[in-house]
Amino acid sequence: MKIRLIRNATIVLSYGKKTFLIDPFFAPKGAYAAFPNTANQVGNPTVNLPLPIEEMIDVDAVIVTHLHVDHFDPTAIEVLPKDITVIAQSDVDAEVIREKGFHNVQTLYETSTIGDIRLNQTSGQHGTGEIGLIMGQVSGVVFQHPDEQTLYIAGDTIWCEDVEKAIETHKPEVIVVNGGSAQFLQGDPITMSKEDIYRTYEEAPEASIIVAHMEAVNHCLLTRKELRSFIEEKRLSSSILVPEDGETISF
Ligand SMILES: [Zn+2]
Repeated sequence: MKIRLIRNATIVLSYGKKTFLIDPFFAPKGAYAAFPNTANQVGNPTVNLPLPIEEMIDVDAVIVTHLHVDHFDPTAIEVLPKDITVIAQSDVDAEVIREKGFHNVQTLYETSTIGDIRLNQTSGQHGTGEIGLIMGQVSGVVFQHPDEQTLYIAGDTIWCEDVEKAIETHKPEVIVVNGGSAQFLQGDPITMSKEDIYRTYEEAPEASIIVAHMEAVNHCLLTRKELRSFIEEKRLSSSILVPEDGETISF
């Protein structure tokens, strides 16, 4: 497999001879306002895309883990071909995506295979307590193929029982987590903190863990520099990888 981190949670994945675009967020730097009630009030995204959009959209399917703007945005809606296969996390999300003009929308729970690839939907928690409830449903996805290692893309979730269960059930060899420790002025982070990432490692010490969702939206306060020095302190630089935007990692 080849995992290319584009920016934030956007990934182009080559797996089992198919290509997937995960969570397309294509706006240029500063196109949107900062998220309300957050520190660091600068426009989103905070950085530009590392490559032209045309190089990312010739794929077999698009997977949208949830509908927050940093995972499926107006620019992506505008540029994606309307007949492309889009896989949503739920009927509700699928309907919203159809209303944007897409006419080949499926849900993750009914899409169990694409070619020889098996897909399994996983759940997550996009924060704790009331904030977690307001953030709403989120999903991840596990990819399996006879010629590939098992890949688990966890989506916008903190470390929680859902992630533990996904690891226990599917025993992934490669895991993509959304770091950044995104947060509001109140409450706990809504994406993984460095401690959450470490907890994921403890649960899957043999796996390679790739950290996405870094340094691209205003309320993500964990920097790559801070995370990398934490990883070095723990002597885990070969297990936990923090790619730059545009970087490809192959397994
Ligand atoms: Zn997000």
